[in-house]
Amino acid sequence: GYRKGGYHAARPGDRFAGGRFVAQRKLGWGNFSTVWLAYDTLESRFVALKIQKSARDYAHAARHEIELLSAATKADPTNSKCVVRLLDHFKHAGPNGQHVCLVTEFLGDSLLRLIRYNRCKGIGLSRVKEICRSVLVGLDYLHNELGIIHTDLKPENVLLVSTINPAKDPVRSGFTPILDRPVGNQYGGAVISFSEKMLKMRARRAVAKISQRRVSLGGVAAEVDEERNLDGISLKCKIVDFGNACWADQQLAGEIQTRQYRAPEDHLAQMMETLGKMPRKMATSGTRSKDYFDRYGDLKRIKRLKFWPLDRILVERFDFTEPDAKGFTDFLQPILDFTPENRPSAMQCLKHPWLN
Ligand code: ADP
Ligand code: MG
Repeated sequence: GYRKGGYHAARPGDRFAGGRFVAQRKLGWGNFSTVWLAYDTLESRFVALKIQKSARDYAHAARHEIELLSAATKADPTNSKCVVRLLDHFKHAGPNGQHVCLVTEFLGDSLLRLIRYNRCKGIGLSRVKEICRSVLVGLDYLHNELGIIHTDLKPENVLLVSTINPAKDPVRSGFTPILDRPVGNQYGGAVISFSEKMLKMRARRAVAKISQRRVSLGGVAAEVDEERNLDGISLKCKIVDFGNACWADQQLAGEIQTRQYRAPEDHLAQMMETLGKMPRKMATSGTRSKDYFDRYGDLKRIKRLKFWPLDRILVERFDFTEPDAKGFTDFLQPILDFTPENRPSAMQCLKHPWLN
């Protein structure tokens, strides 16, 4: 929290780096930091200011993040590799201690917010492909050109690229930079940014619409409406949050990845229901295999699996057409292969016909 060694409590109008950056509003936060939209008075542009917690371990992690991100920024002079750009960094002294701050380009909302914005009903396949392409371009770049492993890829850490430049188009973006402490609440959100209030309002409206649909079958109109709201938003995106990233040739932490997104070495039963039985050799050769598997590679405690393969899930649960389900399964299934060596690289994924 906001105590010694913890977050820095910033307020709109606060200045950083000798007055150069002026805090506008909070964009997000993670376990290590709060992230603010800030106005860069020197370059007349909006930036994202990541203010790290101040305790020593956090400062160390931030310096590591700076090292990796500056390598990634330097090696991509044309800004085409779908990784957030580091613009500057400095230390800020506050009541809770010294905070390492990273200045990065200002991006739009995360894929998690996009998913919630659409009430978890999904978005068109062409948009999914656009997002896959961006993420894979970023991963291929990190893996093959830099030797960096991100280790924390998940929807919250992939941000949409803002198509509107708030500095050039303040009216459309709803932004006017605050150069002083604001009077009242005159600062708005970028078009691409869905405020908490708006999300709540939409959720409430969605419930109303769903109960309506039961009688009027008006749901189709609601869906078209949802899709149209994404128009004008480029679905290009960038990978952010290198707080857990590491060089491929240096020792990894024992555990990586947020649990829900971990590779199939986790969540055994559910994975086998979707992907089929794990190869016996893999099932029985782990240091803790005996806790979970018998010597035939069957789960000890869960006897009956309800197999539900990926293409069936897409058709039966997500209403995919058969050809769409087949195309997507061809792309996705190899990525989820139990055997790590069988999984395709980011580059191989990029060449898959489903994306082309
Ligand atoms: P942490 O390491 O604390 O998780 P992140 O780098 O993931 O910090 O940032 C936390 C959140 O702040 C992100 O999930 C996102 O919502 C927001 N954010 C981070 N960087 C940017 C950026 N460049 N532009 C806009 N929002 C950002
Ligand atoms: Mg994060």
